[in-house]
Amino acid sequence: MHFRDIPQIDKIINDDKFKDYVKPLLTYIAKNEIASIRQKLQDKKDLNLSQDDIFEIISKKYDKFNRQKLQKVINATGVVVHTNLGRSLISEEIFDSVKNTICHASNLEYDLQNGRRGERYTFISNLASILFGCEDALVVNNNASAVFLVLNTLAKNKEVIVSRGELVEIGGSFRVPEVMSSSGAILKEIGTTNRTKIQDYENAINENTGLLLKVHRSNFDIVGFTKSASLQEISALGKDRNLPSYYDLGSGYLGELPYCLSKDEPSLDKIANSVDLLSFSGDKLFGSVQCGIILGKKKYINQLKKNQLLRMLRVDKITLSILNLTMFAYLNHSYNQIPTLNLLNRSEGELVEIGEFIIDKVGLKDISITKTNTYVGGGTMPNKKLPSIAVALDGDAINLERKFRDKNVIGRIEDDKFMLDLKSVLKSDINELVEIIKEVLSDE
Ligand SMILES: *Cc1c(COP(=O)(O)O)cnc(C)c1O
Repeated sequence: MHFRDIPQIDKIINDDKFKDYVKPLLTYIAKNEIASIRQKLQDKKDLNLSQDDIFEIISKKYDKFNRQKLQKVINATGVVVHTNLGRSLISEEIFDSVKNTICHASNLEYDLQNGRRGERYTFISNLASILFGCEDALVVNNNASAVFLVLNTLAKNKEVIVSRGELVEIGGSFRVPEVMSSSGAILKEIGTTNRTKIQDYENAINENTGLLLKVHRSNFDIVGFTKSASLQEISALGKDRNLPSYYDLGSGYLGELPYCLSKDEPSLDKIANSVDLLSFSGDKLFGSVQCGIILGKKKYINQLKKNQLLRMLRVDKITLSILNLTMFAYLNHSYNQIPTLNLLNRSEGELVEIGEFIIDKVGLKDISITKTNTYVGGGTMPNKKLPSIAVALDGDAINLERKFRDKNVIGRIEDDKFMLDLKSVLKSDINELVEIIKEVLSDE
């Protein structure tokens, strides 16, 4: 082909084929594509593209671009708190109730009673204190921010004592040693990978110690010959030596979890006062919006509030509104407004019923119900299997996985079988899922 065969940008974007496309986006993609064709011709590459071919390429690139847009998917992986799929879901009821607050002016930093400037965190802090039974609380952008803020406030240029068994990497570049060094704190490792005693903490304390830190082993487990110091021991040692103690809990839950999950992990209200400060993610097991919730002693929360960094890590009105309502839902025991808890607590019987409903509606024979196991996800309780029920599909698993993914349904492959694990599927998505299964199976 020749340079003269390259269509004009104007001609492309005004073509009838592209009449429903977003013009600036189409122009951007078309210009890039044309530039790349020109370059190839200049490099004397052998190109033979018709105008239709070029239109086709541009249309594909446009679709590919749009595919990256943040959009709804159906989570049929079984993993309820799926970090790649948006972690905890917000209930439609809560979302509808926050609309009025966030689409209008609000008292975000205004004291309605006295008609003067107010504080962004007052209400949420009070609510958290009631809910968790702690002295005070603060909310920041996420739990990583919480860790950073605590370290920077209480231990800048000072040593933070932490067990070698807890120098964790959460994923997505959150590594305790790295976070520590960028916060300005100095890591003081103690103990060994599998065993750390309270005496190790005690022996490591010197005049430059700033903080005693415990980190939850969120996404791994150490088994066998192990020992670690308890929160109570660490907190008592801190009190004795006049040092703050802090627990990076990571996840953390309130209310009822299935027994297999809760038997080794105390709920938040049971541990909120066991150390001076404790932080966890708002969107893991707590089941709310992305944020980091810090609970603890007034004295230390006040210090955090005075840190300039808080301005950078602060949450906006959307987050605060949603978190407010989740906390109210907990106070009222309206667990139906907390999808994460709802999904985790659905019984095998309920899942079987949903599975049978799906199979009945699909009405084809290459689909069946199967028992399976899943995990909570979100770097939470990696060793705790949760019994679940999946819809298994006959046929080439890899092919099926892609076909469902093309329709925004994310399942998983187990023993060479493609499965839609129902543990993580919202009830309100079941009818849509049925339609998608029909579509996919009908062109198999
Ligand atoms: C998840 C987790 C974090 C990071 O929390 P984000 O809310 O993702 O920022 C930090 N520490 C622990 C132990 C965690 O499990």
